[in-house]
Amino acid sequence: MAIIVCPSCGARNRVGPIASGFPRCPRCKSELPWLVDADAQTFDAETSASVPVVVDFWAAWCGPCRMISPVLEDLAGRHAGRLKVVKVDVDANPGLAVRFGAQSIPLLVVIRDGREVDRVVGALPRAALEQRLGPVLAG
Ligand SMILES: [Zn+2]
Repeated sequence: MAIIVCPSCGARNRVGPIASGFPRCPRCKSELPWLVDADAQTFDAETSASVPVVVDFWAAWCGPCRMISPVLEDLAGRHAGRLKVVKVDVDANPGLAVRFGAQSIPLLVVIRDGREVDRVVGALPRAALEQRLGPVLAG
């Protein structure tokens, strides 16, 4: 369960995993930027979405991770309704890091319909990252 603040009206919304569709603000009906944290317990539910999911494997000590984090937040906001970002702290979730072979971070894994379709290793500059994720953002 994540708390997502509506950028349109400021309402704080509790958003759980949704297998179909995407979250809207109950107050103003805006599509919410869908960015949540996941752990080993919630990962499979959070990555089972009907929109493309970008999983961000990160760690607090990882400088490049801090560089791409705001880019992902921005993308989640601008592509609300078409993209979900799931953040995984590899230190807190070593099992997930092993499962996805996240030896080097930041690692972005793109998941569609429960399957990995792409991955980006390392911190790309904003423009390069948007270009790389272009097909995902286009639906
Ligand atoms: Zn709202």
